[in-house]
Amino acid sequence: MPQTENEDNLKVSILASGSTGNATYVETPDHKILIDAGLSGKKLEELMNSIGRTLKNVDSLFVTHEHTDHSKGVGVLARRYGLDVYANEGTWEAMGSRIGKIAVEQKHILEPGQVQSLGGLDVESFSVSHDAQDPQFYDVHYHNKSFAIVTDTGYVSERLLGTISDADGYLFECNHDVEMLRMGGYPWPLKQRILSDTGHLSNEDGANGLMKALGNRTKRIYLGHLSQENNVKSLAHLTVQTMMQGHDFAVDHDFALLDTDPTQATDLTII
Ligand SMILES: [Zn+2]
Ligand SMILES: [Zn+2]
Repeated sequence: MPQTENEDNLKVSILASGSTGNATYVETPDHKILIDAGLSGKKLEELMNSIGRTLKNVDSLFVTHEHTDHSKGVGVLARRYGLDVYANEGTWEAMGSRIGKIAVEQKHILEPGQVQSLGGLDVESFSVSHDAQDPQFYDVHYHNKSFAIVTDTGYVSERLLGTISDADGYLFECNHDVEMLRMGGYPWPLKQRILSDTGHLSNEDGANGLMKALGNRTKRIYLGHLSQENNVKSLAHLTVQTMMQGHDFAVDHDFALLDTDPTQATDLTII
């Protein structure tokens, strides 16, 4: 069957990405979901409005882990908009009373390695290596398209690569420039935490992970979760672009390398 512009497509907007708050909006004709809600309800609704959408029409929210930059708005969204909320047992436990009361029928458990099917939209979870209780990210599938989110991990394992390989689109972490982090003002224990195997991916790590993950299908790569202290958008972009070109990847030809922002949503785009 022929596909028209507005029907039957998987669409994505990175509403916000960075150490200050994260949320991604995913839409099919039948389902509208958010992955993470790391900003206030008010901010999230403003970001949704900026792409011509509203939280009122969102059905479900998938939470990756309990850190505030991913969970700040979870309670408010559940109560105000009646969303179904999915997270694994460890994350529910770690969010605890901090997110306030959520009705038991809105609370759902999705463990790493499981798939939640919502009509034709399948949300697959996978573990990452990060200093939270049981962090997991998501690869969404719709018809023959897929979009994978990989941030908040100190390490890209073979197992993770097996799950996310050759997706049509990625949101991939480029948290910090290693030199900026080393020279910067963070206390040493925090620097060590970020640089560790359970911290965050640097720009170089992000580029290396992407080069292993992407395939012929891959058309859109969003660089995300940039630190505001230890990174700059143009530096992350140039580092990834240069490393990829050095390995003969046809950046801007085979696929687009795209920036995200902590306060501005990316256009709602067909994946
Ligand atoms: Zn984070
Ligand atoms: Zn985190």
